[in-house]
Amino acid sequence: MENQQKPNVIADDVVVSMNYTLTVNGEVFESSPEGEPIEFIQGHGHIIPGLERQLYGMSIGDSKEVSVASDDAYGEVDPEAVMEVPRSEFPEDIPLLPGVQLQVRNEEGEDLDATITKVSADSIELDFNHPLAGKDLTFDVTVVDLRPATDEEISHGHVHGNNHGEHGEELL
Ligand code: ZN
Repeated sequence: MENQQKPNVIADDVVVSMNYTLTVNGEVFESSPEGEPIEFIQGHGHIIPGLERQLYGMSIGDSKEVSVASDDAYGEVDPEAVMEVPRSEFPEDIPLLPGVQLQVRNEEGEDLDATITKVSADSIELDFNHPLAGKDLTFDVTVVDLRPATDEEISHGHVHGNNHGEHGEELL
């Protein structure tokens, strides 16, 4: 069957296995663990748009340095996404120190990621911006494997059958 052929290059609906290292301001922010490339379906917005766009046409074994400006990555810093919360609203087991990341449930019951940015005697400042908001990113990527996505994977919007991912795992 034609769609079972191994793709030669990254194109839409191809499952890409890829090692990456993300560098921000000259420092390594994160990288895929040794032997555990990330897997995603190309062309479905599973990774940030500025990275996905620059992967088309790469083959297995290819490496590339990809620069992504902040507006093509996690967006600009939203000054409105910062709020003061009374210290008394925090459970006692959370260390209230600048840089600590935590999840806060909003009135709609959604869990939002926040970072403590300031601490004072009676209030805590929380920043709900993504830690990479406003940052220009540099990815060093290496393509490890390519295969066609199955119809089921495309309809679910994620890769099946990998040995480390959960359904709906959040990628980059
Ligand atoms: Zn599924």
